[in-house]
Amino acid sequence: MTEETKEVKSLNFLEEIVENDLRENKNGGRVLTRFPPEPNGYLHLGHAKSICLNFGLAQKYGGQTNLRFDDTNPITEDTEYVDSIKADVRWLGFDWAAELYASDYFAQLYEFAKKLIQLGLAYVDDSTAEAIASQKGTPTEPGQESPFRHRSIEENLDLFERMKAGEFPDGSRVLRAKIDMASPNMHFRDPVIYRIKHAHHHRTGNEWCIYPMYDFAHGQSDSIENITHSICTLEFIPHRPLYDWFIEKLDIFPSHQYEFARLNLTYTVMSKRKLKQLVEEGHVAGWDDPRMPTLSGARRRGYTPEAIRDFCERIGVAKRDNLIDVGLLEFCVREQLNKTATRVMVVLDPDPIKVVITNYPEGQTEELSIENNPENPEEGNRAVTFSREILVEREDFMENPPKKFFRLAPGNRVRLKGAYIIECNEVVKDAEGKVTELHCTYVPESKSGSDTSGLKVQGTIHWVNAADAVPVEVRLYDRLFQVEDLAEAEGDFKDHLNPNSLQVVQAFAEPSLRDASGKAYQFLRKGYFNLDTDSTEDRLIFNRTVGLKDSWAKDQKKK
Ligand code: ATP
Ligand code: MG
Repeated sequence: MTEETKEVKSLNFLEEIVENDLRENKNGGRVLTRFPPEPNGYLHLGHAKSICLNFGLAQKYGGQTNLRFDDTNPITEDTEYVDSIKADVRWLGFDWAAELYASDYFAQLYEFAKKLIQLGLAYVDDSTAEAIASQKGTPTEPGQESPFRHRSIEENLDLFERMKAGEFPDGSRVLRAKIDMASPNMHFRDPVIYRIKHAHHHRTGNEWCIYPMYDFAHGQSDSIENITHSICTLEFIPHRPLYDWFIEKLDIFPSHQYEFARLNLTYTVMSKRKLKQLVEEGHVAGWDDPRMPTLSGARRRGYTPEAIRDFCERIGVAKRDNLIDVGLLEFCVREQLNKTATRVMVVLDPDPIKVVITNYPEGQTEELSIENNPENPEEGNRAVTFSREILVEREDFMENPPKKFFRLAPGNRVRLKGAYIIECNEVVKDAEGKVTELHCTYVPESKSGSDTSGLKVQGTIHWVNAADAVPVEVRLYDRLFQVEDLAEAEGDFKDHLNPNSLQVVQAFAEPSLRDASGKAYQFLRKGYFNLDTDSTEDRLIFNRTVGLKDSWAKDQKKK
């Protein structure tokens, strides 16, 4: 880019914070962020936003990013999720400085808790969960102190150690921070910081039967790692004073928390809990179902990491919750695939019409050379067979067409993509009147690339050679939900599932697709597609990644 054309992009508020910190030489000019998923599900597009932000910010300012698994809840977490998260972050194009686990810090966190007890800032509470909840008060009414709040430091230490030793059953006791039962911030009303849970943990096994709560684990984990900028979503704003309180009382490295608006997309849900329900109740084929807003679903559908990063860049960083049009994501995918996809011809019709080219020699087959990608001549050409009998989509023919129908009709001329101009002379029907064949003649001098016919035709249609067309399955996807804003929709979110979100179509592909690989294809006039992982050697299956029509860009022009 030259100086004149360089776009001056204003900084987002997080970049402003980092630049300010760097100017003040805070943390010695060091920038260390973290991406902290809980391994209780697969990552979704909202996480992509967080990943791009955390890794992007560090990259921009010469810093680094840790991948930290927030695995303090043994019941819901699993190594399957850990592995998928690592694969997804890598796929998105990011590399972490260190792979870390909150569970690595269990011993340290336990020591932190004992320190709080010794400072008189934590106590063991024998109250039931219900009693603790009922003592909490409301935002406008102060809470009540627990009868166990004034235990001695010695007694608290003894009980906490015995909690750890496994002497007490689940739910019989908790450790609470001793802060202020009248605080206007509910999180300050003696929050529970440790609970008893006799459960197997995916990494620490049965070593622990007490587990720290989110608020006691997250900030301290940040601090242990010397994280400089701890970025999370807006719902954690009320937790921030507590985050700071623990760090201050424990006198440990002062990480700071900053909040941004989470990504919400139209026509989908973005919560692992809900996505898990869709998987477990069989509404989709799995976490990587191409209709899912998960990264594994997006990948399987043919979305590229470049397109997702571009999308995250375009939506920017907001401080207020909003709903993003999924059309923008599709626009980014289309933009990218337009540059990279190999163009091929597929007759997307289980019941195509056979076109017999009556003046083409019987038994002759020729190889046409058709370019793979007009956007990128370097991709060269491929050979496509052509002969006397070809297949076209039924909707590309009309016996009594309206005025501007530039496809096949009696007496009409069209160009067969990459081949010849043909003219439709005769319509053959069966006893029920259904069209079975079209008899056409071709113009030998009209071959694409060396057309000397002088004929002008308005329409070009795609086709496949009948003799060697490959039957394939094509999966056409629509929105997973029927309503735009699920947060506003009434009833259960699953009431709004789109019953027609998957349509399976049998189709006929040009033979080059026999060797289809993991790359992107544009089925001419149809959209962008990729080979699905369900494919076998003798059964090729393609996903429609996204259609060709760009409703989003059009809408923007209208606005
Ligand atoms: P979910 O509700 O889907 O389980 P979560 O926030 O509980 O999401 P975590 O695994 O705890 O999921 O999230 C890891 C990081 O990703 C957190 O920093 C979280 O704030 C961020 N994140 C999660 N969902 C979104 C979203 N929709 N937009 C932006 N960031 C998100
Ligand atoms: Mg969570």
